[in-house]
Amino acid sequence: MPHSETTQPQLDPGLYIVATPIGNLGDISARALEMLQQANFIACEDTRTTGKLLKSFAISTKMTPYHDHNAARARPNLIDLMQNGAAVALVSDAGTPLISDPGYKLVRDAVAAGLTVTTAPGPSAALAALTLAGVPSDRFTFLGFLPVKVGARRAAVAEISSIGTSLIIYESPRRLAATLTDLAAALGERPAAVARELTKLYEEVRRGSLGELAAHYHEAGPPKGETVIVIGPPATDSSAIKNGMETPAGSAMAQLMDTLTQTLSVRDAADLVAAATGVNRRDLYQIAIKARREDQ
Ligand code: SAM
Repeated sequence: MPHSETTQPQLDPGLYIVATPIGNLGDISARALEMLQQANFIACEDTRTTGKLLKSFAISTKMTPYHDHNAARARPNLIDLMQNGAAVALVSDAGTPLISDPGYKLVRDAVAAGLTVTTAPGPSAALAALTLAGVPSDRFTFLGFLPVKVGARRAAVAEISSIGTSLIIYESPRRLAATLTDLAAALGERPAAVARELTKLYEEVRRGSLGELAAHYHEAGPPKGETVIVIGPPATDSSAIKNGMETPAGSAMAQLMDTLTQTLSVRDAADLVAAATGVNRRDLYQIAIKARREDQ
């Protein structure tokens, strides 16, 4: 055991998922430091990266590598250590482990082995970017990294065009312009943001439509640092409907009203759809009346 039991309180045996800063060391939590200090081992992706973090906080806990290439071999050993009384903290290079980082299978196996699994939650680029983007944040889908190969990426983008929530995507600066172009082509001019260097000195959030952002990064070239793309949801609000029902969401709403008004009054159909979708009741009413006039 790396720590003397006389000076350090001991953690119970088990797995501790510890979030670390995504740039600014000030974002480490008091509980994260406590767990890193008191753990018997820190499982980390890169011992050099985590070594620097530990050095900044004068923590000398023993590190053990746990990354994509050794995970299958390392996992049983870590489970064994925990079953024999060790507290193992899992960290990634930055941010929250398991979020586009290794760790899920270790959690799965620790749970299956009946071990305690707990966390010191903290920074994650995905949520930090969402909070700064200025798009609806009540429902969102985290997509991690899209495929790198162009064909596979376009297929993935086509698939996500049907998702009705805000979207969060990790992307490397090198592929940013190409990915934004594919997204604009498949998703249309949805509001979006590119968040860069979050929590660091040159933190930047560039907001615009997908097309505007694609044009900017084609022109400016790859930005420095790490980037997250955040995209607002497809329009399902009154503006889609008022704009001649030309968007998929607008015409879907018009079709729904058309179907419902074959058996319900326009007023009842508008009430029902407004309650289910949040779309303005009066706009729905107007769509149905307009469609009825056009039919006559
Ligand atoms: N587990 C990490 C988390 O919780 O944020 C994410 C790890 S993933 C391998 C790395 C990606 O996260 C980067 O390619 C980038 O998209 C995003 N990222 C990490 N730190 C960032 C930062 N400071 N600013 C913007 N994006 C960041």
